[in-house]
Amino acid sequence: MGTGRYKQYDLHCHSTASDGELSPTALVEYAVKNGVEVLALTDHDVTDGLVEAAAAARRHELDFVTGVEISVSWDKHLLHIVGLDFDVNDAALQQGLAELRQQRGARAAEMARRLDKLGFDGSLDGAGRFANGRILSRTHFARHLHASGHVRTMQEAFDRYLGAGKPAYVKSEWTSLGEAVEWISAAGGQAVIAHPGRYKLSATKLRRLIEEFKAAGGRGLEVISGSQDSNMTRNLADYVRRYELYASLGSDYHGPSQTWRHMGRLPPLPEGCEPIWRLWQGQP
Ligand code: AMP
Ligand code: MN
Ligand code: MN
Ligand code: MN
Repeated sequence: MGTGRYKQYDLHCHSTASDGELSPTALVEYAVKNGVEVLALTDHDVTDGLVEAAAAARRHELDFVTGVEISVSWDKHLLHIVGLDFDVNDAALQQGLAELRQQRGARAAEMARRLDKLGFDGSLDGAGRFANGRILSRTHFARHLHASGHVRTMQEAFDRYLGAGKPAYVKSEWTSLGEAVEWISAAGGQAVIAHPGRYKLSATKLRRLIEEFKAAGGRGLEVISGSQDSNMTRNLADYVRRYELYASLGSDYHGPSQTWRHMGRLPPLPEGCEPIWRLWQGQP
């Protein structure tokens, strides 16, 4: 891994600015407590938590990196592209994210309409109480269905109603792969395919995604994601080496109620993977 001690990086997590449970400040404090030394906050389609998180990180001498997780439509799939280490004030990026949030608002209204038809009245207000005026995500609907006793677990909310193809799932046109990569790159950052193992793509399709992503200027793959099995990690490390991409890693921590994901505590990147932070100033 080059020279020096391997630092604890966590380059994917969520705060109350999107569908996380902890405020940006509480998240940073929790990261420090868990031994994280370099943290990126990557909320869905929004960067509102970054200023607060950066201020908290300065107080705790944690290295903080700007981040975002962008919703992308690619070949009928909803994919997530993480952006790292970009200029938060970039106008084109912020305009793009604002449009995605509008799209989220329209989708939430349609999801609520479908849930109402399924007999769950007041879903929009219910989910809205969990979102607290910020972006509306399926996670907020799941929390509402769970809190109202309609499902026993959050997972059941996705399995029965909110997951792809289920009755309250609304197909949306998010942004394109090329656009998301372009926004991040033009803002001086690096685009990374988030948790590539979670989209259930065939090997052929995953290769096509990686090729298109690389051609668009994408730089990295998340080789390690929270609660991912080690076969998948080896598989993704192979892709990183074969396509000469950079490797990222992150917990995708959303808060204490997701007991299967932990902040920090990630294994080191497999041998032979160039870490994405090699592209950053001042990181070993
Ligand atoms: P959205 O961005 O509104 O489409 O919501 C997607 C979010 O829902 C993801 O970022 C996860 O946090 C959460 N999610 C997706 N699938 C599940 C699941 N099976 N169980 C719990 N949370 C999930
Ligand atoms: Mn999420
Ligand atoms: Mn994701
Ligand atoms: Mn995430």
